[in-house]
Amino acid sequence: MSTIDELPPLREVIATHGLSARKALGQNFLLDLNLTAKIARVAGDLTEADVLEVGPGPGGLTRGLLAEGARRVVAIEKDARCLPALADIAAAYPGRLDVLNEDALQVDWAAELKAPRKIVANLPYNVGTELLVRWLTPATWPPPWESLTLMFQREVAERIVAQPGGKAYGRLAVLAQWRASARIAMTLPPEAFTPPPKVRSAVVHLEALPEPRFEADADTLSRVVKAAFAQRRKMLRAALKGLSPDIEDRLQAAGLKPTDRAEQVPIEGFCALAREITRP
Ligand code: SAM
Repeated sequence: MSTIDELPPLREVIATHGLSARKALGQNFLLDLNLTAKIARVAGDLTEADVLEVGPGPGGLTRGLLAEGARRVVAIEKDARCLPALADIAAAYPGRLDVLNEDALQVDWAAELKAPRKIVANLPYNVGTELLVRWLTPATWPPPWESLTLMFQREVAERIVAQPGGKAYGRLAVLAQWRASARIAMTLPPEAFTPPPKVRSAVVHLEALPEPRFEADADTLSRVVKAAFAQRRKMLRAALKGLSPDIEDRLQAAGLKPTDRAEQVPIEGFCALAREITRP
């Protein structure tokens, strides 16, 4: 039995508050508090940080974050059924947990936390990628967050950390690794969750770099990468012909072979091409 705090075990919490898992909300709960504390530790020292948690559910990861010493946790949960269980946690950690009963896609979250801010979440899979893309594409860099520690389906996690040359390498890898370091910190079997999902999961840890690895305009880079991977089997000169009438020249000026395919191009190459595209 996990005893990271004095609160009841999660199975009891779920039974007391009638928190049967809802598929539409991506509810696969972590009930082992030793595991949730381990995930919280992937985020590093939390004692000097405010933490955003998306989708606390019955609060397993929330308790892990608080037991690991998070200065403050702001948790956004869409399912109002979870609020009484989360209120019990807030009472056990006075002044350190605030819960917003909202849709995480609609909240101006950064205004709710003081810097430095870390985001830690066992994300609902249906909105996980969308939230990640938003966190990776703020209006200015460095972003409002210092690190992201996020649970994904393993296949998505592999796309985030992928290197050029394989099927997993694509827009998500370029977006994530252009301005952050990214690694898979843990993998978890379906049985770690209740109910178990169909696929394996993994925790990805990203840390924001102070500056992008290579110079490029963010919007142009995003356009180039989107077009390149939308037709990833085509050669670059064909996949990117809509970007510029003299795309072959620009590819060559960027040091890229027009006959290469998107998955062979490293981030540095996409950035060089974005710079060439913006050149008058
Ligand atoms: N953190 C808990 C855990 O680890 O056991 C629950 C994780 S469960 C995979 C995802 C949680 O996100 C659920 O509690 C679900 O209700 C919540 N959720 C789903 N969509 C949401 C949204 N758009 N905004 C906020 N929370 C959401």
